[in-house]
Amino acid sequence: TDTPVTVIGLGLMGQALAGAFLKAGHPTTVWNRTPSKADQLVAEGARLAPTIGDALEEGSLTIICVTDYQAVQELLGASDVELDGMTLLNLTSGDSAQARETARWVTQRGARYLDGAIMAVPPTIGTAEAVILHCGPQADFETHKSTLDALGTLSYLGADHGLASLYDVAGLAMMWSVLNAWLQGTALLRTAGVDAATYAPFARQMAAGVAEWLPGYAEQIDNNSFPAEVSALATDARAMAHLIKESEAVGVNAELPKLFKAMADRSIAAGHGGEQYPVLIEEFGKPRGD
Ligand code: NDP
Repeated sequence: TDTPVTVIGLGLMGQALAGAFLKAGHPTTVWNRTPSKADQLVAEGARLAPTIGDALEEGSLTIICVTDYQAVQELLGASDVELDGMTLLNLTSGDSAQARETARWVTQRGARYLDGAIMAVPPTIGTAEAVILHCGPQADFETHKSTLDALGTLSYLGADHGLASLYDVAGLAMMWSVLNAWLQGTALLRTAGVDAATYAPFARQMAAGVAEWLPGYAEQIDNNSFPAEVSALATDARAMAHLIKESEAVGVNAELPKLFKAMADRSIAAGHGGEQYPVLIEEFGKPRGD
């Protein structure tokens, strides 16, 4: 707990990160473009560096968490910033190409680079509930793991610097898909006077049940073999038609069910109607959509 750390960027998230390091007993140096955001942290024992260059000289591990990668580039590209010999963990949200490009740029300047993504909101930082994804050289992650443990539940994904960003958006795709499916069902049931709270426990059970299928379905995808063990895609497509018809009949939005069916229909037209649902990975793996 006596390992020093530096936190650059004291927005809502950066303040939470620095606060968790302080709470765990790490000597913590902070810097922010607007210095007043450090006031509370300084009161809790943080050292406010006068310049970003000065902040980076302090610790061997520097965490940066600002709005976007453009801000990261602006800050680290400043003339008084010397990156040689330091380790940088970038917890700023962005895409995989930006993460890989920043890795190239930073390592060319002699620094070690880890990228990460925070799958949590600021109030949970410092508790096990906060899941933080990391990628980059494993040895660098291992070196700093015990320090980073102060932030939450750590996950190491692999050496590719784009992985944290990819897992981040993949997780969001899961989140919005589950929420949209639930909202579709809620809209349907409300037409029969069933309120959202009554339907929610059923929906939750359904979502949890479907989640159980993922490991087995993943095996089919990885083996590129989709025997219809429980149901053929053509059977699913017929049920999708019911969902569309019912939605239209009771006057709720049918866009989402129509999207499901359009994708299934294309796969069936390509000859996959007798195979199992995950064969749709072929449709998801193609560029389409504006
Ligand atoms: P805030 O808007 O609260 O803070 C943004 C921070 O970025 C501030 O410290 C701001 O400095 C700094 N900044 C922005 N542009 C520049 C620039 N050009 N030069 C210097 N500093 C700059 O955002 P959050 O702290 O909430 O988010 C930070 C990152 O964390 C984002 O990438 C976000 O996606 C990610 N994240 C946030 C979550 C959340 O729930 N809040 C959840 C998961 C990830 P200043 O104070 O001077 O304006």
